[in-house]
Amino acid sequence: MKIITVIGARPQFIKAAMVSKVLANNGIEELIVHTGQHYDNNMSDIFFEEMEIPKPSYNLDINGLTHGAMTGQMLEKIENILIFEKPDMVLVYGDTNSTLAGALAASKMHIKVAHVEAGLRSFNMKMPEEINRILTDRISNILFCPTKEAVSNLEKEGYDNISAKIVLSGDVMQDAAIFYSQKARKPNLELPNKFSLCTLHRAESTDDTAILTNLFHALDDIANSDNSIVMPLHPRTKAKLNGLNYNFSSSPILFINPVGYLEMIWLLKNCNYVLTDSGGLQKEAYFFRKKCLTLRNETEWVELVEHGFNYLAGTDCHKILETYSLMQKKEPDFTTNLYGNGKAGEAIVKAIKSFK
Ligand code: UDP
Repeated sequence: MKIITVIGARPQFIKAAMVSKVLANNGIEELIVHTGQHYDNNMSDIFFEEMEIPKPSYNLDINGLTHGAMTGQMLEKIENILIFEKPDMVLVYGDTNSTLAGALAASKMHIKVAHVEAGLRSFNMKMPEEINRILTDRISNILFCPTKEAVSNLEKEGYDNISAKIVLSGDVMQDAAIFYSQKARKPNLELPNKFSLCTLHRAESTDDTAILTNLFHALDDIANSDNSIVMPLHPRTKAKLNGLNYNFSSSPILFINPVGYLEMIWLLKNCNYVLTDSGGLQKEAYFFRKKCLTLRNETEWVELVEHGFNYLAGTDCHKILETYSLMQKKEPDFTTNLYGNGKAGEAIVKAIKSFK
């Protein structure tokens, strides 16, 4: 059996890391296509090295374009690879343009598509990720859902009547968090003893000046009061803040360059709280038993909110500060198991092997 995995962005490298190992252990040939959506050393290479992901067989180097141009170029190049390699299946992860391009190229050629992290919905069609998720799910043959909620989303959309196999696999990010936890490494920096870990990068947070300004008012306020903030700064957010003439030198926030996964785990283990608009980080906060303030109006990971691990703060400065102080008072019970048993990779490969 020959599988082509299409990945291109940081969260996908993390998601693919464990599944790749299980595929190799099962003697399944996997070729990786790296679309190039993320390409900096600290957004790409470091993950392949530290997480021992097989080197990509193809590097498409497609980045810095509009959504249409990026997806279109990927589609064309991936199609050429599929014509040449003739895989049995294409494996895609998450909700980026690379996910959609990989799935679309394969499905038009009647090559089986497996989607890991299927069934998630934010119900916000303004998010490019939501569009990518919905379209990818619809053209996939195997849908690997991380949660029961994701399965239920697909059922509500009528997937019972669509000939796709739905598998409740658990969450591959939990596999990664467990596997790499022992390898966590402190960043080579002076860090405050007590700090919150913050990341911000989504288009809805960064592309609207009023929203971005609001978010940073709130974060500056929090960092100025009781808790320092350490923020590995995403290149997109950095560019937008520069555009706003944000004063980095007088900011109370400690900005650092994006870090690799092992350093990120160290930060997760050692922070007080997580503040983020990232999807993956909301779950990682839970894996490492940290409460999370989500700087968005909705989340795909609704079970975290229901159980009091995650607090949806929106993007209004006032509401963020209010929700932050509410969150500080809560003591949720972290002894639940919302995302499977850390064996999602095994479940995924088992289903792939037996898929007809
Ligand atoms: N991450 C990382 N280094 C950083 C920032 C994030 O390794 O400097 C990891 C983070 O732990 C999570 C993933 O990248 O596993 C999340 O990626 P991102 O926030 O870019 O995407 P999203 O999860 O929102 O799709």
